[in-house]
Parts: sequence; C-alpha cells; structure tokens
Amino acid sequence: MTSAIQRTELKTHYYTPVHCPFCGTRVMGADPSDETRITACSHTLFIAHDMAFEYRSERFNKSLNLNGLSDREVEERFLREDGGIDAFTDQVRLADAIKVAAYAPAPSAYGSYYGFAPNE
Ligand SMILES: [Zn+2]
Repeated sequence: MTSAIQRTELKTHYYTPVHCPFCGTRVMGADPSDETRITACSHTLFIAHDMAFEYRSERFNKSLNLNGLSDREVEERFLREDGGIDAFTDQVRLADAIKVAAYAPAPSAYGSYYGFAPNE
C-alpha cells in the first residue's frame, strides 16, 4: 500500500537550503558560485518551481506516467491542474516519499518543490 507523498511546508524559513532527508545532500545552492545549480542525489524525485521542473527522476516519471514525454508535454499536464505543479507533484505515489514545499511570502507567492524517497 503506497500512500500519498508526505508534505512539509516552509513558509517563514522558505529560504532555508533544502537537504535530502535520507542522505543529507544539499540539493539546491550547494555551489557557492552558482546558487541556482541543483544537485540531485539518488533519492531526489523532483525539483521544481511554479513555472517548471528543474529535475525529474526516472521513478517520478514512472509514478506519474511521464516516460517519453517532452518537457513541453509535461508542462501541459501540470498546467491542467488547478493547483499547478504543486498539486501535480502531490500525486506521486512512492513508499515513504517526502515533499518539501517552500513558499515565499506574498506578493511573490513563489514556490519551490522538492521530492525525495528512499531507494527501493
Ligand atoms: Zn539523498
């Protein structure tokens, strides 16, 4: 039985660097010369913000039947969701998966989303 991904929301400390809960890899901003660079570890399912995915793993693609789709086709999928990419990534079904959603305060309303799961 695989339940919904467990969510953690960062609203006050939204800028806190997110690390993988399973191995400690800092997935965003680990490179001081390029803080936008992402570092996906083997547990990383996805890294996204409201406009696009930065990273999608094989397991994530498989869980949401995205294999073989182009970035453009994936974008069409999440744009159809009422909650956009945030609601779309909530649909991933993998055992003990964890999602961190970091929301910058209004008026920005900018979200960043990180998904992780233990290796099979
Ligand atoms: Zn990891």
